[in-house]
Amino acid sequence: MIPPIASNFVAGETPEAALAHVEGLNNRGVAGILNLLGEHYEERPPADADANAYVDLVEAIAERGVDACVSVKSSQIGLDIADDVFEENLARIVEAANAPSATGPDGTGTFVWIDMEDHETTDVTLDAFERHAVETDGNVGVCVQANLKRTREDLERLADLPGKVRLVKGAYDEPAEISYKKKARVDESYRDCLAYMFEAFDDGVAVGSHDPAMIDYAKQLYADHGTPYEVQMLTGVRESAQFELAAEDDVKVYQYIPYGSKWFSYCYRRIRERKSNALFALRAIVGN
Ligand code: FAD
Repeated sequence: MIPPIASNFVAGETPEAALAHVEGLNNRGVAGILNLLGEHYEERPPADADANAYVDLVEAIAERGVDACVSVKSSQIGLDIADDVFEENLARIVEAANAPSATGPDGTGTFVWIDMEDHETTDVTLDAFERHAVETDGNVGVCVQANLKRTREDLERLADLPGKVRLVKGAYDEPAEISYKKKARVDESYRDCLAYMFEAFDDGVAVGSHDPAMIDYAKQLYADHGTPYEVQMLTGVRESAQFELAAEDDVKVYQYIPYGSKWFSYCYRRIRERKSNALFALRAIVGN
């Protein structure tokens, strides 16, 4: 069982628990992005098993009629084993997500996001995204990271493709030659990339950030350009802001919802990254 402090950050251990969490969010105007926790598999069986779980999940989303999509990590479905294992498993998930059994009443399949991991995976991830974006006429999305110096240029390639792009600041500690290290410089790059996306993208912009300054900037860019956009935040982080934003007219809000049995290290990271979370955890432990 997941202890109460950790259950702030994950929706449960099973797909049923995750889908029930999505239903609760949908009732409050927020859509879901479901992520089965797991990464860096070095053998094929767990990578294939997680890909199978996503195949089942995209069907369960359509069957239950919830407003949700999925987000997969490349190393979870085989990239650390071989590029073709990742590509084969991703193709299986995307195919299942666009099959009639995963198609909702509006005629579109379940949307599939591809998370972005460290810089060594950027090219293979963007190439895979490009293939599926074209094949599915934009029913896939990819994440790019503002802390990487290459990202502004990658966006020019992505602007011409169907599909959605999520901009995040970047969660990986990358070498200084290829990345911005200072927070202020990452924020500047985030603003630069966001401004370009609102100007050049037709299929919408996904703002993957909890930062009120970036969300306000996106609102301003929307007022200037009218490009549709969405804001994506994590389960357990600034949830009241998620619900407040969802009540506004011009933006769609998604909550990225991790679930599954591998919750321990994910929750540990979330609790460690902010003093307020650590204090909350401590209070829960001492029962105060
Ligand atoms: P930060 O720069 O960390 O913080 C800026 C401000 O935001 C803070 O000063 C505070 O005001 C507010 N804030 C931030 N966190 C909190 C909090 N816990 N509680 C209260 N206020 C807070 N990274 C990847 O590398 N690859 C991915 O595929 C990826 N996918 C992601 C998907 C989503 C939906 C999200 C939200 C993030 C994802 N990330 C990913 C992580 C991302 O790169 C950042 O590491 C993470 O979001 C922290 O940056 P930030 O923009 O949220 O704000």
